[in-house]
Amino acid sequence: MTSPLLPHPLTGTEFPSPVPAGTGWPGDPASAATPVAHDATDVLELSADASLGELTARVSVCRACPRLVRWREAVAVGKRASFAGEPYWGRPIPGWGAEAARVLVLGLAPAANGGNRTGRIFTGDRSGDWLFASLHRAGLARQATSVHAGDGQQLLDTRMVAAVRCAPPANKPTPQERDTCAPWLHRELRLLAPSLRVVLCLGSFAWDAALRAVGQVGYAVPRPKPRFGHGVEVPVSGPLGSLVVIGCFHPSQQNTFTGKLTEPMTDAVMGRARALADVEGCGS
Ligand code: SF4
Repeated sequence: MTSPLLPHPLTGTEFPSPVPAGTGWPGDPASAATPVAHDATDVLELSADASLGELTARVSVCRACPRLVRWREAVAVGKRASFAGEPYWGRPIPGWGAEAARVLVLGLAPAANGGNRTGRIFTGDRSGDWLFASLHRAGLARQATSVHAGDGQQLLDTRMVAAVRCAPPANKPTPQERDTCAPWLHRELRLLAPSLRVVLCLGSFAWDAALRAVGQVGYAVPRPKPRFGHGVEVPVSGPLGSLVVIGCFHPSQQNTFTGKLTEPMTDAVMGRARALADVEGCGS
């Protein structure tokens, strides 16, 4: 399923939607030779021994969840009217940011017309606008906005990932899709563990995924499982070291429009993450 060639908004290079691997999209980690996962067993095998670079590339071409592949590609071809003149990435959104991150920001899944369009996590939608502005104020992002892959934005000592790497219908992955995608997150967490000090979870879905993931890679998670809340902190430790899992309300428009999540609330959690991770970002 592809659509006509359209120019990338920043580079002007023309792409079909979805974008084939290794064809010049800014930041595309894959090539035409990157191995593709077609089911849950493939995800387990391809994530097991991957370096961070290999993992990022392999995630970005994954096709293990048939429903999500159909959805992300249908959105890429159909497009929201306001983006009708743009090519859509239409592929999974891999982790992005520092390779020796001290802070890991964990979301639920990419937005259909945000990350699924721009090819970068939390980039090109209102939640991302809110999030990057706060990250910038905390000294964890070079710029206050994140518009498109290739815009010069850079995370500082920070990496961002989604628990489920493909845009799901109604923002709701199934439990099976969540579990199929989990090995990508587990491997990424294991690779980041030597430097990682904080996992900042945006919403309860990410909170649950983070606690499952840190337990899976060897950290001791308290029992019963701590409940999600804004500003809740859970220190965990294990053979890989120690880190703190922090909860933050998701910067969805439902939360920000209603005042459930305010800028000062977001900034307080970001500042706390930065302090715990002892980050020397651009603001220091
Ligand atoms: Fe692959 Fe994860 Fe996307 Fe499923 S959600 S297709 S496992 S990247």
